[in-house]
Amino acid sequence: MAEHLVIAIDGPAASGKSSVAKALAQRLSFLYVNTGSMYRAVTWLAVSRGVPADDAARVLALLDENEVRFGVTDDESSIHLNGVDPSPYLLDERVNANVSTVATIQEVRQRLVALQRAYLEEHDLVMEGRDIGSAVFPGTPYKFYIDASPEVRAMRRQKQGVQDSISARDKQDSGRRASPLIIAEDAHVIDSSHLTIDGVVGEIIGRLKLKGFPFLQNGPVANPQVHRTI
Ligand code: C5P
Repeated sequence: MAEHLVIAIDGPAASGKSSVAKALAQRLSFLYVNTGSMYRAVTWLAVSRGVPADDAARVLALLDENEVRFGVTDDESSIHLNGVDPSPYLLDERVNANVSTVATIQEVRQRLVALQRAYLEEHDLVMEGRDIGSAVFPGTPYKFYIDASPEVRAMRRQKQGVQDSISARDKQDSGRRASPLIIAEDAHVIDSSHLTIDGVVGEIIGRLKLKGFPFLQNGPVANPQVHRTI
């Protein structure tokens, strides 16, 4: 079996990591996996069935009773709940309000982490989340932690028109016992507060080159012409 590579992108809510991870995956032709969406899908299942997010036994029962599939469709990672793509509901206010509670359930994490690791069996990955470098793939040499000031992060969420108490989520994510949001010891930290997506991607690519990342030996992957904001 060919060995696959994984680039871990972690960071707090609205740090810009999704835009960056997506753009990086596209540049490298790696599979992009958003693990936040996986926790959100389980949370949507719970809130849409009226199951309290802190009722671990009932949340786990939902995972057994429903067909929850994390796969790849048309070269993109995909989620299906009983055959239906839940994407339109994953940023629902009720999901935002409950996802960090669902994410504290140890057995939910264990199941999702196993599925996250399974992606690497067949794909090179850019995977984003909170614990990718620290717990899911601690052995990868390619770890990045994207941060931004609380003001910038709040403004980004506001611009997306989403009701999301990011500081409460950050507190819960950093304070939980199971795989809390931490900066992995060997992660390269990037403050994206005053950078564009391409600026952050450029910094990551520069770092990957220094580390001898195999796909970048023959010069830059692309010269970013567009300066998109996060
Ligand atoms: O990345 P996003 O903000 O969509 O993640 C939603 C929530 O899912 C986070 O606030 C966190 O509680 C949880 N999460 C996690 N571990 C991950 C990814 C997300 O606990 N790897």
